[in-house]
Amino acid sequence: MSFAASVLTLYPEMFPGALGVSLAGRALEAGTWSLDAIQIRDFAIDKHRTVDDTPAGGGAGMVMRADVLARAVDHASPPGDSRPRLLMSPRGKPLTQTRVRELAAGPGALILCGRFEGVDQRVIDARGLEEVSIGDFILSGGEPAALVLLDAVVRLLPGVMGNAVSGEEESFENGLLEHPHYTRPQEFEGREIPEVLISGNHKKIAAWRREQSERLTKERRPDLLGAQPLVK
Ligand code: SAH
Repeated sequence: MSFAASVLTLYPEMFPGALGVSLAGRALEAGTWSLDAIQIRDFAIDKHRTVDDTPAGGGAGMVMRADVLARAVDHASPPGDSRPRLLMSPRGKPLTQTRVRELAAGPGALILCGRFEGVDQRVIDARGLEEVSIGDFILSGGEPAALVLLDAVVRLLPGVMGNAVSGEEESFENGLLEHPHYTRPQEFEGREIPEVLISGNHKKIAAWRREQSERLTKERRPDLLGAQPLVK
């Protein structure tokens, strides 16, 4: 079973973009996942192929039309399609590694990329779109956010990452930030690799790494310490 992504966008040429190379690109070629970038404009109703209009109530910018988006969603995700329907949106629930894992375990996703001021609320409600944010900042469009989400999901698909263990030890997987890494040379500009890491004592190394993880998390992301760990 492969992960099927359908992306609704005004810029299908942005896909697969960064996901066409390296691990994700190889997995795409191998059929581990599929990507269908669909032009929203093809679902416009008028001869000018309009997808947006001025905001009701006034104000700056344009809003993507509910009727056009609904036609695009219905085409890409007909009744019976069990894939979640996501809308990339700064107002959404922040994306977490837990949600990424859930998505990777499922059949795929429909991803709607907003542009302009965003999309008419009625299509969000009528099509049950799940709003997902990739952080507290504003992008010019949902496409880079969709690429970020898909990158996170695809690397978890079976067979995509060479060394599956490295995935389990990463930041967020155990509710903590990852410990620092070192590699050769032994000395760099007068800085040595921490003694313990070259001791060969695996128990001590594990304890040191755990300590470093806890210290970094406390310093940088104390909010994570209250969060539910995914892997115990
Ligand atoms: N007026 C909106 C921002 C629109 S930005 C507001 O203030 O909330 C245009 C589009 O970019 C959005 O519709 C969304 O699809 C995408 N986007 C912007 N920032 C994002 C973020 N942090 N996460 C996910 N999508 C984002």
